[in-house]
Parts: sequence; structure tokens; C-alpha cells
Amino acid sequence: MTYAYDDQNVFARILRGEIPNDTVLETGMSLAFNDIAPQAPVHVLVIPKGPYVCYDHFAAEASDAEIVDFTRTIARVCEMKGLEDGFRVISNAGEHGVQEVPHLHVHILGGRVLGRMLAKG
Ligand code: AMP
Repeated sequence: MTYAYDDQNVFARILRGEIPNDTVLETGMSLAFNDIAPQAPVHVLVIPKGPYVCYDHFAAEASDAEIVDFTRTIARVCEMKGLEDGFRVISNAGEHGVQEVPHLHVHILGGRVLGRMLAKG
């Protein structure tokens, strides 16, 4: 697969400091911030700072250090938000995944029973 990264996407602009964000946690390689339109009491987005379009791009091409940092950031957010009762991690990709922002992000959702994973149809 080849991936074309658009550096004008909103998360790239957040990473460059061009628009604000509600930061939950920042590391050298990752940023976690609250979603601007939360769909659950906890709705945090975690992004790598590197220019990766989607999850498979990151999984295929990121360095080991980036992958470890990103994964550990997800764990730290889950702990910070007290998600012992459960949560959902989602990463939308591409047209069929209905990805709106073409910079890899996972949604961490929790704080209530979330219902089934996919609506039928
Ligand atoms: P997706 O469909 O997986 O690409 O979801 C993109 C998510 O980014 C949505 O949940 C939006 O509410 C969220 N979002 C878009 N712009 C911002 C922003 N400036 N700050 C925080 N979250 C945002």
C-alpha cells in the first residue's frame, strides 16, 4: 500500500500549534486530547506525532519506538480516565471506515455502557 499524507489536515495543524486542543497527555511521540464532539463521557483521541494516514500505515511503517510510545499512551489515558469498567478503542480508516481526519487517531470511548459495536445495515 502507498499512503499520501495531507499535512493540512486538522490534526497536523494541532501538532504544529496552529489550532488549540484540549490536551490529556503529551509524550515525545504522541498526543492525546479530548474529542471536540464527544460521543461518550470519556472520548479521547490519541495520535502519533509522525505523518501517518491511518492505522495500517502506522503499523507497517512507524518505528518500534513510535509504536511503543503510541500504545503506552493509550494505556496511560485509560488509567488516567479511570476506565476500569471497560472502554472501546476505535480507529476508522478510509472511505469504508468513514475516516474524517486523515491523520491516524484512535478514539478511546468510555464512561458508560457503549452498546453494540456496529449499527446494523
Ligand atoms: P474520524 O471519523 O475517526 O476521522 O473522527 C474524527 C474525530 O475528530 C471526530 O470525532 C471529531 O469530532 C474529531 N475532531 C475534529 N476536529 C477536532 C478538533 N479540532 N479537536 C478535537 N477533535 C476533533
